[in-house]
Amino acid sequence: MILLKPTIENKIWLSSPHMGGAELEYVKDAFDTNWIAPLGPNVNGFETSIENYLDNEVHVAALSSGTAAIHLGLVLLGVTRGDEVLCQSFTFSASANPICYLGAEPIFVDSDKDTWNISPVLLKKAIEDRISKGKKPKAIIAVHLYGMPYKVKEIHEIAAKYNIPILEDSAEALGSSYDGIKCGTFGDIAVLSFNGNKIITTSGGGALVTRNKNYKEKAVFLATQARDNAPHYQHSNIGYNYRMSNVLAGIGRGQMEVIDDRVAARRSNFEYYKQKLGHISGIEFLEEMRGMYSNRWLTCILMPSVQIRENIRLKLQSVDIESRPLWKPMHLQPVFEYCDSYVDGTSEDLFERGLCLPSGSNLGLDDLTRVVEVILKIMTK
Ligand SMILES: *Cc1c(COP(=O)(O)O)cnc(C)c1O
Repeated sequence: MILLKPTIENKIWLSSPHMGGAELEYVKDAFDTNWIAPLGPNVNGFETSIENYLDNEVHVAALSSGTAAIHLGLVLLGVTRGDEVLCQSFTFSASANPICYLGAEPIFVDSDKDTWNISPVLLKKAIEDRISKGKKPKAIIAVHLYGMPYKVKEIHEIAAKYNIPILEDSAEALGSSYDGIKCGTFGDIAVLSFNGNKIITTSGGGALVTRNKNYKEKAVFLATQARDNAPHYQHSNIGYNYRMSNVLAGIGRGQMEVIDDRVAARRSNFEYYKQKLGHISGIEFLEEMRGMYSNRWLTCILMPSVQIRENIRLKLQSVDIESRPLWKPMHLQPVFEYCDSYVDGTSEDLFERGLCLPSGSNLGLDDLTRVVEVILKIMTK
């Protein structure tokens, strides 16, 4: 019998894992020393390598996912049942879901056109309106979407004025910076993700980052079942099982050795696409504002209409190239239909016209050429 050979070898993925080489050594170390546990030298080593990379003044707690980090971050900021939390609408659902885990209510805020991230104008409007309705938001979740920093100065000034803490969702932005300062160090609490499609991966994992040492200690305490200091198992708090495993942290240590190469490769993907497609009328790219440096986790383009966007996406798909519409805003998601929002159509328009192009750091020039040729063929017909 002749089996049809899957075409998967030729498939170009949106963003696939890219090992550096040293990962297996660290994992082997974990096996050799029998540290197959959610603690051990790799967890500590991984945390230290992230701290050294971001800013030596921050404390990092390695966790089982970015979503877990957001959940614990909201717990640490005191979010409880009935509270309101302002959240960027244009994001992945994991930014908002943990608000609901806590019985709190998400209120969504639209993006601006400059960064595709939370709009300072609408954020201020939302805060003032909620306060006038008698309920001050408990926290703000701002996201550096696709690696592009949000307007850090403006957003943090507003948050400071009303004394509302910021949870900085930096899940897509490891390696990005604002005025030379790394993303993931601005929020009262920040989170990173090491999911398989992110700029570096531990297969699954995340981290909570903070300048407040107490927050880190409390995060680790809560992430390891909130066990009191006693010989028996005693608990005065509700705990979670959210610590990163020492095996996976080994992958993370290897990945941190190549983070700069990964950022450079993603940025060079963006430059290539822009060079080949930037002059085509109807195709738009998101540029960095002054002082912003994006890791270009995914290169996204805006097309003139949803129809053209779909033409291109389906054509790419037919030749085994994965591309994807931009994130569907949370205020348009069925699950969040009941939530209030402060929107002006920006993220809805981005969702309709936007397409994420293959952006892995392991793509070759031949791969990028294949993608560009398909798009050029449609756009210059
Ligand atoms: C990936 C992602 C998360 C969640 O991280 P996981 O590690 O997958 O749980 C949260 N927010 C954003 C913006 C993300 O892209």
